[in-house]
Amino acid sequence: MAAERAKARFGARFELVVGVHDLAETPDARDDELASWMPFSEAEPVLGRLLAASRRTGTPLRVTSDDAFRSDLHLLAPWLVRHGVAGAIFVPTRFLGRPGRLTADDVRVLAGLGLEIGVHGARHVDWTALSEREFIDDVTEGRRALEQILGRPVDLAAVPFGRFDARVLDRLLAMGFREVHTSRPGLALASVPIKPRNMLKSGSLPAVLALGDRRGDWRDAARCRLRRLSTRFRSIGGAP
Ligand SMILES: [Zn+2]
Repeated sequence: MAAERAKARFGARFELVVGVHDLAETPDARDDELASWMPFSEAEPVLGRLLAASRRTGTPLRVTSDDAFRSDLHLLAPWLVRHGVAGAIFVPTRFLGRPGRLTADDVRVLAGLGLEIGVHGARHVDWTALSEREFIDDVTEGRRALEQILGRPVDLAAVPFGRFDARVLDRLLAMGFREVHTSRPGLALASVPIKPRNMLKSGSLPAVLALGDRRGDWRDAARCRLRRLSTRFRSIGGAP
């Protein structure tokens, strides 16, 4: 019993953060975006298995979605609400109102359903490829637009294309972001603001499902802490 309680406590130090994009059965995603499209009919059983695993291991599940596809509102949010799963939506603000994308009103509805809303830039550009000024402008424009829509501060961010380096991380944390989501796989440690995310796409599913069965131990914690250091030496890229 004591061992079970200890395990539950240790498990709660971690969470499994999953990332999705367009979930529409007929994709709204175009061109390069199609690489991260997964129809909801394929994603839902995977999410169901991850939720069942989360209940077994005691490691909370959080589902995030990037790029403001309208499936966030019509497909993902109802699933999250139905199952009581935490969610975060990362919105490139210049995408709002485009065909197949969320509107500002949709973002307010999603926030009203209890989903967190986070910054994903304004233009959806690779922050590591920009000058300091351009990078700060893109983050600030995206953040201000969301804060205006929601009428409150926004302190979550996800790096576009999963690309980040030490400069990007340090600057985002200095700007007061509480969490910075990447596209690197692994369990997220609650006490570390840089959140590994496990992107659902064809090819990644076996690895994500295997991770869902893990409770997390000192090796996962060390990986979370060391990732920050490893960015001192190289920039890291991932999925859209
Ligand atoms: Zn993106």
